[in-house]
Amino acid sequence: MKGFAMLGVGKTGWIDKEKPVAGPYDAIVRPLAVAPCTSDIHTVYEGALGERNDMILGHEAVGEVVEVGSEVKDFKPGDRVVVPAITPDWRSMEVQRGFQQHSTGMLAGWKFSNFKDGVFAEYFHVNDADMNLAILPDEISLEKAVMLTDMMTTGFHGSELAKIELGSTVVCIGIGAVGLMAVAGAKLRGAGRIIAIGSRPACVEAAKFYGASDIVNYKNGDTVEQVMELTKGEGADSVIIAGGNSDILISAVKMAKPGGTISNVNYFGDGDLAIPRVEWGCGMAHKDIRGGLTPGGRLRMERLIDLVKYDRVDPGKLVTHVFHGFDNVQKALELMHDKPKDLIKPVVIVD
Ligand code: NDP
Ligand code: ZN
Repeated sequence: MKGFAMLGVGKTGWIDKEKPVAGPYDAIVRPLAVAPCTSDIHTVYEGALGERNDMILGHEAVGEVVEVGSEVKDFKPGDRVVVPAITPDWRSMEVQRGFQQHSTGMLAGWKFSNFKDGVFAEYFHVNDADMNLAILPDEISLEKAVMLTDMMTTGFHGSELAKIELGSTVVCIGIGAVGLMAVAGAKLRGAGRIIAIGSRPACVEAAKFYGASDIVNYKNGDTVEQVMELTKGEGADSVIIAGGNSDILISAVKMAKPGGTISNVNYFGDGDLAIPRVEWGCGMAHKDIRGGLTPGGRLRMERLIDLVKYDRVDPGKLVTHVFHGFDNVQKALELMHDKPKDLIKPVVIVD
């Protein structure tokens, strides 16, 4: 079968591989729609995970089940499914500790395009199908459904980690697809003021649509100063990081009130992270710094499906570019790399 792969750090291309085989609890899925992720860009062009050779890229897909293992009970060939980017090993001690994302090791719930071939292939393998797949309802389009697999779950996780209380002030640094879903999540979780930081016009418009009350353009001067001015020197109760380089954590800590929460879902591609000593109260400000890989699995996807089905959130606004034909995966990934002004997220429908 054909797949679009990371050949090595900085290099991509089409390769041929054997079709994957399903173990007793697994499924083989044919993609119906896929999307590239900014994480694919960190992985390929920054080598953020280290060297990977001939690894098929992609972890955002909806598809059709083509084969299931002998022990799979709830799915059968022909079912249309939402496939989460994170597919944990549910029989693991980390899951029992409450951290499905790190089942069998740090970040090891993230398998596609990390520990095994991803979804930019004619077929891909899903471990523990009963626990990791969710049925796609007919009323949700492929374009919207593919946004649940990573963008919505990740942005919402940013809002979950942020400990948002009714009426509290939230800053969201970054309003790409992930940050936009963090804004939507903050609104759903009851935030009062939501200050969104970004610059691309398409993202700014979408941030307002999803619930931002104020927009800060980081290209118009120091973002900490702008946020402090907006909040009359107080800062925010919660600061969600969904964009920026490794020095963004410094800004986030500075923007948080004493006792505030910094919630990171950014994937830092290089460098070390620093904490500003004084604004962290010389270590005593009770500013809580948290960061997490998004949750995956079946229940998470079923809950996100309900949020869309019952009109709580519309992920359709994230999709600015739709391609038809599997070969366009390459073009979509290049767009994700270049991030033109009108782009939020491209989707490839595999006709
Ligand atoms: P995008 O590149 O689309 O968005 C990044 C956002 O950050 C943009 O709004 C950009 O502004 C803004 N930005 C860039 N530099 C700065 C700066 N210095 N100050 C403030 N804002 C800035 O990324 P995505 O939304 O696709 O992804 C966001 C991050 O989430 C990535 O690192 C990605 O790898 C990660 N991720 C993490 C996951 C997890 O499980 N934790 C899962 C999926 C993704 P502009 O408008 O100018 O572009
Ligand atoms: Zn991703």
